[in-house]
This record gives sequence, structure tokens and C-alpha cells, in this order.
Amino acid sequence: MFLGCHLSVSSGYLKMGQEALGLGANVFQFFTRNPRGSKAKALKPEDVAALLKLTEEKGFGPLVAHAPYTLNTASVDPRTQGLAQDILKDDFERLAFMPKVLYNLHPGCHLGRGAQAGMDSTMELLNNAYPDNLENPILLETMAGKGTELGRTFEELAYMLAKFKFPERVGVCFDTCHVHDAGYDLINDLEGVLEEFDRVVGLKKIKAIHLNDSLNPKSSHKDRHAKLGEGQMGLDTLIKVISHPQLAGRPIILETPNDLPGYAKEIRLLKETLGLIAE
Ligand code: FE
Ligand code: FE
Ligand code: ZN
Repeated sequence: MFLGCHLSVSSGYLKMGQEALGLGANVFQFFTRNPRGSKAKALKPEDVAALLKLTEEKGFGPLVAHAPYTLNTASVDPRTQGLAQDILKDDFERLAFMPKVLYNLHPGCHLGRGAQAGMDSTMELLNNAYPDNLENPILLETMAGKGTELGRTFEELAYMLAKFKFPERVGVCFDTCHVHDAGYDLINDLEGVLEEFDRVVGLKKIKAIHLNDSLNPKSSHKDRHAKLGEGQMGLDTLIKVISHPQLAGRPIILETPNDLPGYAKEIRLLKETLGLIAE
């Protein structure tokens, strides 16, 4: 099982790998740049190479690079669109140094133009920005449906996936808090939700899992993450998700409100509950 958490890239790539090992993780996620700004530090190829060597030696799962939250690929405002284009272009140049890393992004907000128009804008932008010779899989994240967020329903995700120019290089990141907030009943009907996902999108399209509890009840569309077992979903539900045979093998990333010791504690809790280590 590939289990890890979100880490900060600010002190370098190899550092993240070492940090992950220290937390008991064998996978992790990082932002491609500081989430508050659009500027990214220059990437050191030798630092990335050192990380990839380490993760290979230690048998890590597929790492996840997360696009900045500020990116709105669905906007028609020329400035926002230009910024999104620049960020994607720059991120794709960096990702070329780490071809197996998954690139996860939120599919944007339609800002009142309607879901269809927003999704078309997002996919047009992505198709234009993604270089034909890139290998990195693109993941669209399941969203809580806060405001005019796209990707709230499985149907919207299926629609967007079908529009990507390389069908085999696009998938979904399944965020438990978001799916719950979006209105799917993971607590009482995990089987039903997964069946629905399989029918609409296809379970094989799920390439990563964001494991978060939610501060709010189902269908709240709030997107407020909670620590495992400290939210409305509960540890039992989250354990059922990650031990579901149909979801096996995906990198599981914690995005819970934690510092590093907090993450280490949650990773340990999951391993103990799953019987992977003695309590
Ligand atoms: Fe996300
Ligand atoms: Fe997430
Ligand atoms: Zn979230």
C-alpha cells in the first residue's frame, strides 16, 4: 500500500523524499509552487534526479504534483486565462524531469457561465498547454462543489476526461472529503458510490486518492478537511475506502490539517488499523 501525505517543496525535492521516509510514508504529494504565488523557484535537475533515485530504491508509489489552487482554467477573463496558461506551461516543463509523477489539478470554477462552458474552457486550455511528448498523467480532482467548482459530479468528470487529447494519459484523483461534501454517501453506501463511479467514469480511471475527513455533513459543498476520525466521515469509512479491493494500489495522500508529527501519527494510525504494523 502506498501511503503518505502532502509535503512542502520549499526545501527541495530530495528533502521531501527523506521527510516522507521519516514519517513512515512511501509516497507523497507536493505543490508545484507556493500556493499563494504563481512564481516557482527554479528547479535543480540534479535534486530531482536524487529524489527519483531514492524513491525508486525505497519502492515508493507514484508521486503526485498538485497544481496551484489559484489557477482557474475555466475562466474567460483574458488575464486569468493567460496566467493559467503560463503556469501550466511552466509546470509541464518541470514535469518533463519527472515523467512518472502524476499532475493533479482542480478543474476550475465556471463563475456563473454554466458548467458546460467552464468544462469546455478547462479542457481546451489543457489540450493546448499539454505538450504531445510529455508522459505525465493528468488527474482531475473530484471537487466538493463549493461555489461554481467544476468536477462535483461524476458526470462532469467523465465529460472532461473524454475531451482530453490523450485518453490514456488522463485520470481522476478521488478526494474523500470532496466526494462526501459533493453529496455522495461514502458513509452508508460506499459500494453504491463506487458502482456509480464505475458506471459513469470507470474505476480504473482513479489514479490517486486524497484521504481526508470532512468537518461538514454530506452535500455541504464546503470543502473543509478534518483529521482522520475527527470529522463527519469517521475513521471507519475512510478505512473502508482505502482497503476496498477495487481501489488497491493507488497512492493514498493525506491532506489533513497537520504538521509533520501529526502526519506521522495519522500514517501510523492507518497502518495499525489496517494491521500493517503491530499496535
Ligand atoms: Fe486538491
Ligand atoms: Fe484534495
Ligand atoms: Zn479540499
